Amino acid sequence: MNAVPETRSRCLIVGGGPAGMMTGFLLARAGVDVVVLEKHVDFNRDFRGDTIHPSTLELLHELGLLEEFLQLPHEEVREIRGIFNGHPVPIADFSRLPTHCKVIAFMPQWDFLDFLSRHAMKFPSFTLHMQHEVIDLLFENDQVEGVRAKTPEGERRFLADLVIGADGRHAITHTKAGFQLREFGVPIDVLWMRISKRENDPPQSLGFFRHGQLLVLLDRGDYFQVGFVIPKDSLEGLKQSGLTALHQGIVALGPFLKDRIAELDDWNKIKLLTVQINRLRKWCREGLLCIGDSAHAMSPAGGVGINLALQDAVATANLLAAKLRKGPVSLADLELVQKRREWPTRLIQAMQAFIHRNVVTGHESKSGDSLPIFLRLFEWFPALRSLPARFIGIGPRPEHIHSPAAE
Ligand SMILES: Cc1cc2nc3c(=O)[nH]c(=O)nc-3n(C[C@H](O)[C@H](O)[C@H](O)COP(=O)(O)OP(=O)(O)OC[C@H]3O[C@@H](n4cnc5c(N)ncnc54)[C@H](O)[C@@H]3O)c2cc1C
Repeated sequence: MNAVPETRSRCLIVGGGPAGMMTGFLLARAGVDVVVLEKHVDFNRDFRGDTIHPSTLELLHELGLLEEFLQLPHEEVREIRGIFNGHPVPIADFSRLPTHCKVIAFMPQWDFLDFLSRHAMKFPSFTLHMQHEVIDLLFENDQVEGVRAKTPEGERRFLADLVIGADGRHAITHTKAGFQLREFGVPIDVLWMRISKRENDPPQSLGFFRHGQLLVLLDRGDYFQVGFVIPKDSLEGLKQSGLTALHQGIVALGPFLKDRIAELDDWNKIKLLTVQINRLRKWCREGLLCIGDSAHAMSPAGGVGINLALQDAVATANLLAAKLRKGPVSLADLELVQKRREWPTRLIQAMQAFIHRNVVTGHESKSGDSLPIFLRLFEWFPALRSLPARFIGIGPRPEHIHSPAAE
């Protein structure tokens, strides 16, 4: 017998990442009774990207929250440059985007999620439970009717008319639902670590690329969150070569880090993040819809996964909020979300695969210090920089807020 009673809601969201928090916020704003379960104790985790795209800033404008959001500490980047084989190349110029904010805002993702949750909690129909880890789906016949979660008070059942799986790349929801996943091979993984920041360090950029290798530095105030791309499954070999070899690899891409690279004096300070690109064949079944990385895991290439997850959230609310306010939704309703969001996902994943093949392989290539021709085009024809700006900053098929606000 359960010590803790069951709860029932119209919609239950598994995962408080960008997809889950935005969906929860929008459904609660529409007056839908919604519960979000997040397994961690807070949003303070290192592994997330820190990019808030012009399209997301536009959504905040549509929601009347932009001014307040921009009061939070952040850095605004109007043009993104990559350092390719030592040459700074302007890749994306956001200044001509048809959005109110023509910048990418760099902000620790936990600040963004805190902001969304603070505003969501103003709606009486919103509930967020931290430290609630979903461990199974509950079925009634063939329909998903809720989840089982580990909570600080013990195991608990949450019933709902609709469960939304927004639980990221290693989703329990899509696994337990038996969804088929199509994997697209990725040749890289990422080592993730911290290195202190000093005055006069170079400004935020897309990263330092050299001969197929990539170093990404996210500015987190007094330190850099550092991503160093390595060939897939090569960590054990790297460990055998020793920390000095890793130091040399990092400093070869970012020479200004030489004076502090020794801070990485233990492999415990270095985390491996496995990179995947995959997509569910079906994103839904009766009672369950998967969105964000749970439906389509994204590589960090291009820094577009967060944007895509948020766009899924907006589409989900646009298509389902009004119906959910009245009652349960049908499988056909859920299929509309996949239908709307699948082709933008395919397009972006194809772009990421292109970057893996042509720019970042993780392997030190034998090519010289010259720039690939397609990168030279950005130097020669500045107008071309609007294309990546649109792709990164807005993405294909941008969503706008059409879900209702409860009176
Ligand atoms: C190394 C790396 C760097 C990246 N950098 C960037 C970047 O700079 N910019 C960018 O746009 N994209 C980046 N991405 C991609 C981006 O992180 C994802 O596409 C994006 O976070 C997807 O959002 P989401 O809400 O779908 O999933 P997630 O952000 O993964 O959120 C899922 C949430 O669900 C919770 N959860 C998981 N399982 C359970 C459970 N069983 N019960 C309860 N809660 C659960 C998790 O704790 C998490 O909070 C990067 C990816 C990688 C691998």
